[in-house]
Amino acid sequence: MNMRLDATHAPTLRSWVTGANDPGGDFPIQNLPLGCFRRPGESARIGIAIGPHLLDLAACAGAGLLDDALATVVTAPTLNAVLALGRPALSRLRAQASALLAADAPARPELLVAQEAVELLLPAQVGDYSDGYASIEHATNVGRLFRPDNPLLPNYKHLPIAYHGRASSLVASGTPVRRPWGQRCSGEGPPEFAPSMMLDYELELGALIGPGNALGAPVPLASAEAQIAGLCLVNDWSARDIQRWEYQPLGPFLSKSFQTSLGPWLVTLDALAPFRVPARPRAPDDPPLLPYLDDAADRAGGGFAITVEASLCSAQMRAGGMPPLRLSRASFAGMYWTLAQLVAHQTSNGCNLRPGDLIASGTISGPTPGSQGCLLELTHSGSVPLELPTGEQRRALADGDELTLRAWCEREGFARIGFGSCKGVVLATDRAV
Ligand code: MN
Repeated sequence: MNMRLDATHAPTLRSWVTGANDPGGDFPIQNLPLGCFRRPGESARIGIAIGPHLLDLAACAGAGLLDDALATVVTAPTLNAVLALGRPALSRLRAQASALLAADAPARPELLVAQEAVELLLPAQVGDYSDGYASIEHATNVGRLFRPDNPLLPNYKHLPIAYHGRASSLVASGTPVRRPWGQRCSGEGPPEFAPSMMLDYELELGALIGPGNALGAPVPLASAEAQIAGLCLVNDWSARDIQRWEYQPLGPFLSKSFQTSLGPWLVTLDALAPFRVPARPRAPDDPPLLPYLDDAADRAGGGFAITVEASLCSAQMRAGGMPPLRLSRASFAGMYWTLAQLVAHQTSNGCNLRPGDLIASGTISGPTPGSQGCLLELTHSGSVPLELPTGEQRRALADGDELTLRAWCEREGFARIGFGSCKGVVLATDRAV
């Protein structure tokens, strides 16, 4: 089992930081997610979220409050050097930050920065990005829309399907998404080049990698989690009309590469330890897995009980002071493939991962109504529009729509922890139609 608990997980632990002990908050002392931030006019720094504040890690290092190995890497503007040290270093950082922030430690408000006073940046400089297809409900629902007779392709239960994403267009939460142009073809007549009319989001979580593996040295499933520093929210914006025309035979290309948004917080695997669950059991008639994708530890504890949610607020809703409308809620525990299987599969050919690489899960959908993690599924490819509280209808995202992703973990006997949010508003295309 992957549930290694220590004093940093104790539900009774409190912090001296004002606002950090709210039981409904995302960032109690039991969480301590890592992120990057920038004060106006200054350069980027690394921090740890605590309540509504950030613990400034370069300031901690300057005050001699971190061990030497950590002090040399936390002054960088991104997390990559921290991730390169691997999970033991992240565990030490967690223990040292927890001790600094605990209620029985002296208050050091000079080490804090208010989150609302800074810009939250991408948590790491991502060199390579791939995106999975690990929810069998998502794969089945989407397959049915694209291929009604043959929804789940024969490879699905044998290997974790993924595509290579585009790292250059990963952006921080809060960055607007510009409606892309592309080729689309209705099937009647020739294709046209036009703004996408079927812009969508995908509700996902992603693993940030560290320390990485050497080229030619696959990561076995048993050590795959040593490569996963933690998880963050991911929105894989998707242009469905462009995707439908381009995706065969090599998979999505320009329908996804125009932008992908990342949440600001890397919630470490240590923080997630109390919320580990068995991998989703395979059905009795599912084919046996090849040995490199199967082991007892992954079956027993490869899952994460993380609740994920997407909500939408149209421009008209915001003007009317309405709250966002929840579009979906699902559990990450229901994924067909584990993150460790994704890592083992991706490196099984000898491909190397590097610190800060991103492996996203794919859209997180569940089996029940209201648990589908994208509009393609929720609207049955636009044939059943969603009704907003204003009376507006949505078959796809409209200009001005703001999408918000959230994720959190709750379990009896443990402090609730969360991932913050990943937001983006849709802007009209900036080219003449
Ligand atoms: Mn995706």
